Amino acid sequence: KKYIYMFDEGRADMRDLLGGKGANLAEMTRIGLPVPPGFTITTEACLAFLERKDEFLDEIWDDVVSAIRQLEGITGKNFGGENPLLVSVRSGAAISMPGMMDTILNLGLNDETVKMLAEESKDERFALDSYRRFIQMFGDVVLGVDVSFFENILHEIKRELGVNFDYQIPPEGLYKIIEKYKALVLQEKGFPFPKDVWEQLRMAIIAVFNSWNTPRAKTYRKINKIPDNLGTAVNVVTMVFGNLGDDCGTGVCFTRNPSTGEKELYGEFLMNAQGEDVVAGIRTPLPIKDLKEELPSAFKELVQTAELLERHYKDVQDIEFTIERGKLYILQTRNGKRTARAAVKIAVDMCEEGLISAEDAVSRVKPEQVEQLLHKQIDPEAKYEPIAKGLPASPGAAVGKVVFDADHAEKLGNSGEKVILVRPETTPDDIHGLFAAQGVLTSRGGMTSHAAVVARGLGKPCVSGCEALDISIERKEFVVNGKVVKEGDIITIDGSKGEVILGEVNLVQPSFTEDFRKLLDLADKVANLQVWANADTPQDARRARDFGAKGIGLCRTEHMFMETDRLPVMQEMIVAETLDSRKEALDKLKTMQKEDFLGIFEAMEGLPVTIRLLDPPLHEFLPKEEELEAKLEELAKEGKENTEEHKKYKKTLGRVLALKENNPMLGFRGCRLGMIYPEIYEMQISAILEAACELKAKGKRVIPQIMMPLVGTKEEMRRLKEMVERVSKEVFQKEDVEVPFTVGTMIEVPRAALVAGDIAEYAEFFSFGTNDLTQTTFGYSRDDAEGKFLAQYITDGVLPENPFHVLDREGVGRLMSIAVHDGRKRREDIKIGICGEHGGNPKSIAFCHKLELAYVSCSPFRVPVARLAAAHAAL
Ligand code: ADP
Ligand code: MG
Ligand code: MG
Repeated sequence: KKYIYMFDEGRADMRDLLGGKGANLAEMTRIGLPVPPGFTITTEACLAFLERKDEFLDEIWDDVVSAIRQLEGITGKNFGGENPLLVSVRSGAAISMPGMMDTILNLGLNDETVKMLAEESKDERFALDSYRRFIQMFGDVVLGVDVSFFENILHEIKRELGVNFDYQIPPEGLYKIIEKYKALVLQEKGFPFPKDVWEQLRMAIIAVFNSWNTPRAKTYRKINKIPDNLGTAVNVVTMVFGNLGDDCGTGVCFTRNPSTGEKELYGEFLMNAQGEDVVAGIRTPLPIKDLKEELPSAFKELVQTAELLERHYKDVQDIEFTIERGKLYILQTRNGKRTARAAVKIAVDMCEEGLISAEDAVSRVKPEQVEQLLHKQIDPEAKYEPIAKGLPASPGAAVGKVVFDADHAEKLGNSGEKVILVRPETTPDDIHGLFAAQGVLTSRGGMTSHAAVVARGLGKPCVSGCEALDISIERKEFVVNGKVVKEGDIITIDGSKGEVILGEVNLVQPSFTEDFRKLLDLADKVANLQVWANADTPQDARRARDFGAKGIGLCRTEHMFMETDRLPVMQEMIVAETLDSRKEALDKLKTMQKEDFLGIFEAMEGLPVTIRLLDPPLHEFLPKEEELEAKLEELAKEGKENTEEHKKYKKTLGRVLALKENNPMLGFRGCRLGMIYPEIYEMQISAILEAACELKAKGKRVIPQIMMPLVGTKEEMRRLKEMVERVSKEVFQKEDVEVPFTVGTMIEVPRAALVAGDIAEYAEFFSFGTNDLTQTTFGYSRDDAEGKFLAQYITDGVLPENPFHVLDREGVGRLMSIAVHDGRKRREDIKIGICGEHGGNPKSIAFCHKLELAYVSCSPFRVPVARLAAAHAAL
């Protein structure tokens, strides 16, 4: 079996065998780039060594020797002899992995060869300095002698000599250091520093192999789910020297700017220096463009090489290079890490340059990266010190005055002040405060706490579970590490990092740039799924459209009734005792609803708008029982027992009691309302269609889709469909216009999924309401589950993930696939989508792609993420 590959024997696609570094060094050699000669000992050798230790190494040792002999042949140098060959020994796994062994430079030096190197290079100082570095690196990395011992010796001698920098140490000083280093090794290890160069090489190779199993490397693999049986390769590379004078240097560069994506060579270098000096921070490196003045011809070659490498790998390259006496060498290349912003620009630019396909461009940016781009962020240039750290519950940053209760937050917020709502935790009663605040900070609760879920839905930053905060609502202050922060004090929160900062930090706008739009347009071309949005208001609809939504998948009509000027009319309707008085109230509501629909249809002109008829139980629109009782008591005390007002409250209370349910989630709600009180749905249907007719008469194209909630039987669907047809005839006759529309249903109870074939006889579209479908399939009430046992279930591994965030494929997904199959069988062209929160979750979107749904619908803020996720699903 072949365990050693010379650089000219390998290729980029042999990454598993040669490691990332080795495969790329081979590839660069193969395409004729100036890589110093070298060879790679394979990852398989590493695994064999870890099993059989020295016995294995003995078996391959002849091959190691012969590989070195080949390097001698190519370079004309001698390992351990005249004109000495020095090598670096570098680790490199298939997956880049910090925690692996550090590189050893200048291997092959001893008391004899150092003199030969001095002679050959005509630079004694250089030779001694290289030797000094070698003993230190080898001592540290291979022998495990604490590096600070070496540093102490170095500092001591520099102090004695009165010099500041390493390169100012004269040869005599270096001699002294080398002697002390050797004495140090002897003292620490009990054996002398190895002078046999072959022994040096063998020990270094063993050290690289063993570094695969250091605790640091093991932990890293565990966290990042990298298998343990990959092993690391060893690269042995002829040394080239960037520290041989003023026509030498070393540096790193990116082929494009990794933070902005700008197409420019980006990086830094040091003149007259060896690799580690750049990172060691001893001297300040210069920007790469300055190399043009220092060494014009090497710079030119670097520019050309960078271009070539980028074209070859079709991605941004992160390149390490060294210049020896004016000659450029490339020591490493790999795909460059980049910020989200740079990732977008680079992907789009490369696609436009014709370097990569649309599919490639889309695949280069992760949906999660896009999230970073959509929220205000802390200015990357800003300097600050967090006072506390919590969970990064909802991304983005916000600045505002600390406020401790929702009402106050709402008041200040509405008067234009920026506030941060700070609470131990939030409940549904705090929503108005959350809505008015710039962001939320809680001391309790996790990533699925109420504050976190609501904040994500609203697209507001949230830091949750910040336990270091000691909040006192009564005193209106919180204490953190002894610091007291009072109501009205300004703080900044960073929901992407989970940080809390005292005072105002500069924020920058999200970069919904031209490039970002272009990338998402590419994504739309690649994706099979369309992305629609859930929007209840014209404002939301416009935002959704601006973010690229191709329709409204869910417009909830109940939110329209919750507004302060409408709620009393809604209550009037619910409390009405006769059909006539109910119809009177409904007429008023209809005028209002029609306004809403006009606005939404206009915002979405030319695109489908799916409107769901009234869904929640009616009691949600009425005041709470306790409130009414308190009010009645108050009136009684004031002696107003028989007034109109008292009667009105009494009547409402009666209605509240009549509507009271033990389990409202499974109660009198959804289409059951429309079945029992048809006049409510009839009102909504005519409002929708009248609005549509009105716009059509003005020459606008509207595409209404009327959606029934919580349908569970074929008969419900039949009757509701019939209702829509009847009302539509009336409306069209009255308006003297006809608008094409469709009627369909949510699929959100298991029975509906199971009899979807029957329901499809009447329903022209299905929309999976996966929030309710998850609740009803698991039998979990979401509000109760998330706070009580769900978090524990996930921690304990009972459930792999929160099924309300990531769609449960085995259960809920199974029902969906039955409904898709049977629905399509009954009605070939049935349009099927999803409008639950899962519609914005990349993993769930991938599943919807598999089911070949027509669209996913999610909150407007998530539309860009969903567009990219839909494209990724199709790759
Ligand atoms: P890392 O994986 O930590 O980047 P490398 O193996 O790339 O480690 O080595 C770090 C640096 O050491 C390189 O960037 C280069 O500057 C220097 N280096 C490695 N091998 C050689 C060599 N053969 N000649 C000159 N410098 C080298
Ligand atoms: Mg490197
Ligand atoms: Mg529902």
